[in-house]
Amino acid sequence: MSAPTDTHCPYCSLQCGITLTPKPDGTLSLVGRADFPVNRGGLCIKGATATELLDHPERLTAPLVRDSRDDPFRQATWDEALDRIAAAVTATQERYGRDAVGAFGGGGLTNEKAYQFGKFVRVALRSRNIDYNGRFCMSSAVAAGTRAFGMDRGLPFPFDDIPKADVLVLVGSNPADTMPPAMRFLEEGRERGARHIVIDPRRTATAELAHTHLQPVPNTDLSLANGLLHIAIRENLVDEEYIATRTNGFDAVRRAVRSYWPDRVERVTGIAVPDLYELVRAMAAAPTAMILTARGVEQHADGTDTAQAWINLALALGLPGSGPGNGWGTITGQGNGQGGREHGQKADQLPGYRQLTNPAHRAHVAGVWGVDPDELPGPGVSAYELLDRMGTDAGVRALLVSASNPVVSAPNARHVEERFAALDFLAVTDIFLSETARLADVVLPTTQWAEESGTMTNPEGRVLLRRKAVEPPPGVRSDLGIWRGIADRLGRGQFFPTEPEEVFTELRRASAGGIADYAGITYQRLAAGEELFWPCPAEDHPGTSHVFTERFATPDGRANFLPVRPRLAAELPDEAHPYLLTTGRARSHYQSGTQTRRSPTLAAAVPRPYVELHPELARSLGISDGDPVRLSTPRGSAVLDARLDPGSRRDTVFVPFHWGGAACVNALTSDALDPTSRMPEFKTCPVAVEKAAIDPEEKNGAVVRPAVART
Ligand code: SF4
Repeated sequence: MSAPTDTHCPYCSLQCGITLTPKPDGTLSLVGRADFPVNRGGLCIKGATATELLDHPERLTAPLVRDSRDDPFRQATWDEALDRIAAAVTATQERYGRDAVGAFGGGGLTNEKAYQFGKFVRVALRSRNIDYNGRFCMSSAVAAGTRAFGMDRGLPFPFDDIPKADVLVLVGSNPADTMPPAMRFLEEGRERGARHIVIDPRRTATAELAHTHLQPVPNTDLSLANGLLHIAIRENLVDEEYIATRTNGFDAVRRAVRSYWPDRVERVTGIAVPDLYELVRAMAAAPTAMILTARGVEQHADGTDTAQAWINLALALGLPGSGPGNGWGTITGQGNGQGGREHGQKADQLPGYRQLTNPAHRAHVAGVWGVDPDELPGPGVSAYELLDRMGTDAGVRALLVSASNPVVSAPNARHVEERFAALDFLAVTDIFLSETARLADVVLPTTQWAEESGTMTNPEGRVLLRRKAVEPPPGVRSDLGIWRGIADRLGRGQFFPTEPEEVFTELRRASAGGIADYAGITYQRLAAGEELFWPCPAEDHPGTSHVFTERFATPDGRANFLPVRPRLAAELPDEAHPYLLTTGRARSHYQSGTQTRRSPTLAAAVPRPYVELHPELARSLGISDGDPVRLSTPRGSAVLDARLDPGSRRDTVFVPFHWGGAACVNALTSDALDPTSRMPEFKTCPVAVEKAAIDPEEKNGAVVRPAVART
């Protein structure tokens, strides 16, 4: 590379624009792009230090194989590694059938890779078993949005609309830590006098900046939203004309929330009755109002219904599709959380949000792929179910993992690790030897963000061109080339181009006419700086920055209310586990930490896992700041440093989820799944908290012991 290259950050869904420029000493300078409308030059510490990943000394640069799991890895040629994978696929399928081989992808894969991975599994492996870690991140809002609006686009409007909201309600969302440059949209709103209300059990950095912070009991958001709707109806604050002309099903919801009396809602949620009234009245009185939800709403066993409850409130107030500054949206987290779920990486979907169960959809995609529709397998199972069944008669016996680290990121992670050990064969592609890769039989080194081109789609439905800026290290291949190499050995290589633009051109055809229609988006248009949001059905179409303005994407064009009630949580606090554990991100780390824990700057910023707890809770348990604290749930226990935080609830402790090994908080989290989205209940589970004896080996989670043996 000799000239500056405009590209995008490798981490979160904001996909901040950056420019990489070679320096005389051979390193790269990285600056935020002022011309990119999302970050306008702003970057968080993760993006600003992203070049630390490129020449990292732990980078994988050769395939690794081993003959048994007891052996250490040894370097192998690409031919040997790919031959081993193809042989394992063939042997497994001959013995157990096609579905005994599966794949697990990542929410950070480019659109081209997400598309090609889904196609690879259905056309080369001819298996139904593929899902991805995005199932853990936003699938409940996806399910709710699809049910209510007929379409899942995280934000039906651009970020630029956020400052236009006179009242903004953020529920279970903490952009000040997870995507700091997005805070400029909130700041702009506050500067013009907008009122911001944050609903979060933690007093987060985002809550600190809001006008109002409501701190409900974890896992009570559904009751809270129903209670707010009850007040809106009782006070005649709902938009009857909007309800009559743009929605279906309000009467059933009106009946369902009748019993959500404010004093009852206060008892359940801990939010005082006057605060409930004030919130509803503020939203109803404002010329424009917006509700944004995120993982705090979704990562529950009733996450889909909880997201629906907030959608019900938004619809009753007449917000979605009612012009700039109004609406409901969900803020996607992972790098390509939006695009990664649109093009066939999910167990039940084909590209463009087409369905595997729909004969017309199958025929369209099979036509683009050049295969018989009857060759395409049916839907598989969701991510956690795929992992939970590994190595059993009901599950896969061989798995290919790409750009994901479920040993750290899946709930009930010790159990997941056991299931990985039960596989006959595991191959992992990654840039580092992640905790999951350490369990593999074959590990393949892949290119990373700045070493390859591809498109990403951010939460607005904005499609971005992430340009290649540097050559990858010798010995490294792209996932597209890896899948082609395996497919060649299975006799299906002819279906798999390896150039990203060629794959994207095929993706455009496969998505054409679907909900997420990319037909009109080209590399040339993106390179020329056009701002393109899907659906974009033709090359002369400007793209669609705002959806739902005239009609919703449902068959009759109307949005759907749905009555929802909270289900009893899978686990309730008891004498042995009297507190609640909630998890989330730390500002300087990302997802399972495979990348950020290796960045010297980011690792120095937050070097170790910790547990945040209220000083009064700590005092009652004899815990001081920095003490080792043991957390225990029915799945295991971990010892972490105490970090006292008066912004915590007295009944709730918080642990960031970026660490693996024995410090992996997901060893403690619940694997209860939402019945619709199959999203796990990461956000809440009962936990015991106690001061741990100071044991240097155990401190900071050097040891996690199962409290209950699983059978
Ligand atoms: Fe990267 Fe997200 Fe930080 Fe932007 S906010 S620099 S996309 S990690």
